[in-house]
Amino acid sequence: MLRFIHTRGLRECLERYREAGEQLGFVPTMGALHEGHLDLVRRAREICDRVVVSIFVNPTQFNDAGDLAAYPRTLEADVEMLCAEAVDVVFHPDVDDVYPPGEDLGRRQFDFGGLDELMEGAFRPGHFAGVAQVVDRFLHIVAPDRLFMGQKDYQQVAIIRSMLEQTAHRAELVVVPTRREPHGLAMSSRNERLSPADREKAAAIFEALSWMRSQAMVSSVEDLRRDFLERCSIPPLRTEYIEVVDGQRLRPLSNLSQSDVVVACAAVWAGEVRLIDNMTLVGDELSS
Ligand code: AMP
Repeated sequence: MLRFIHTRGLRECLERYREAGEQLGFVPTMGALHEGHLDLVRRAREICDRVVVSIFVNPTQFNDAGDLAAYPRTLEADVEMLCAEAVDVVFHPDVDDVYPPGEDLGRRQFDFGGLDELMEGAFRPGHFAGVAQVVDRFLHIVAPDRLFMGQKDYQQVAIIRSMLEQTAHRAELVVVPTRREPHGLAMSSRNERLSPADREKAAAIFEALSWMRSQAMVSSVEDLRRDFLERCSIPPLRTEYIEVVDGQRLRPLSNLSQSDVVVACAAVWAGEVRLIDNMTLVGDELSS
């Protein structure tokens, strides 16, 4: 497995793969890897000739300096895990390599048609502009044939799909289902910050979403949301939002029959740790 911290060496290496006619799969991550990330890597391994993984805690997508500082960083363990998955290339640049000082990168303005104003966009102002900026930048550097992302970050997938439509990147987006812990909590690097007791309690998020799905045919949206709130009102859990939205534009629905694909998306604080999750209530999963 090759490791790069500078863009130039990486570009040269990838150029050789491309000249050999090999298909590149790219998995962007912020590290602190877990089985959810590895599912993306394995999917890429299955359908691409070469797999490139980036590990970069992108400062421009954090709207809270404390959250950025507290984000777990476990580079050497991550590299070992990727080596065991037969990843070809790991790219773990410094902030200065991605955003060279003095270079005016500007922020390319994307029009997400309101997608970035809801849910995560509303509670984390500037977050999606930062996500789109870094993924756009990495796609310029890596120019993969396929880009792998997790359904766990449902709104992020919708944002990146929209960004791809607005750019000339040729990458095909492959969405991988959410990997969960045995009791249902969606795997996340942030779970490492939960105490064992809070980690148990956070399983209520998955249980509440599953309840919503089981009741989707017989309950109103209002009742479904109320049920979620009740089921997640176990201290230290505190729900920031629970929305029932259409699967494409992520517009809040007042009635489930308004869309073929209906998804429940939630953000819940477990003490100091902010967790997000989602579940398709009606229609097909995003995954391909
Ligand atoms: P992150 O390191 O949190 O930026 O995540 C990198 C990629 O892994 C994103 O596309 C996430 O959606 C995906 N991912 C994170 N957690 C999971 C999970 N539990 N299951 C599947 N994919 C995930």
